[in-house]
Amino acid sequence: MIPVKYLKRNSGYEINGLWYPRVTSICKIIAKPGIEKWLANQGSFYAMQKKRKKITGWGTLVHEVVEKILLGRMPQIDSDICPSIDAFLEWMKKHKIDVFGIEKRVTSKKHSYSGTLDVLGEIDGKVGILDLKTSSSIWDDHFIQTAAYLEAYNEKFSKKAETYWILRIDQYQECSICGAKKREKSGEPVIKEGKKRCNHKWKKVKGVCELKEASNIKRDLDTFLTAKKLWELSNRSWLSKVRNYPNKLKYQTS
Ligand SMILES: [Zn+2]
Repeated sequence: MIPVKYLKRNSGYEINGLWYPRVTSICKIIAKPGIEKWLANQGSFYAMQKKRKKITGWGTLVHEVVEKILLGRMPQIDSDICPSIDAFLEWMKKHKIDVFGIEKRVTSKKHSYSGTLDVLGEIDGKVGILDLKTSSSIWDDHFIQTAAYLEAYNEKFSKKAETYWILRIDQYQECSICGAKKREKSGEPVIKEGKKRCNHKWKKVKGVCELKEASNIKRDLDTFLTAKKLWELSNRSWLSKVRNYPNKLKYQTS
């Protein structure tokens, strides 16, 4: 059995003597479209882990560079992420952006969870929370996660944030014959769409930067809180041993 101490550290934060589960850990309970197929296609568990680590590393690098740029610095840019960063810089030129903070820890005492938001700021006159993603598209769970940050942020601060956005930064190569898209974030190429039998001819790498704003904040938060209940239920055996979890009594059934 995995020690409770390890599970606590892995899925939450200790804040002023209390333990709060992390937003990203809770959101893992939500099924990701396509992930099972992807996992099944990776050969072995080891190969999958290795690839996933590389993709995560690529995303982390983009995150770091983008956050530095948002803080007004111009860091060294690795050639691997250049098209993505160029697309982001182009996007920045077209919008009025004021950054108030990055990597900010927020905690909801009301709902007992904690998390770290990417960017707090004002975009084109609206104050909100920006979450950076480097995935090949924007999924519903990205909004659910960010809704949780908004709720926690607004619980504590009097100057409220009114919205949230997902900023997706990505890059790919398109086949000029069949339109397939190739991404090489993990070292090995991942090809999607297009035709299988095509003798692909790849165009040069294209960067993408797209912003999507929340469309239904209440629904996203409700979904998060439901996911949290489900997460508590499926982790109840060890959660019941976490003495400093403030939500302890609420999820325990008789
Ligand atoms: Zn092709």
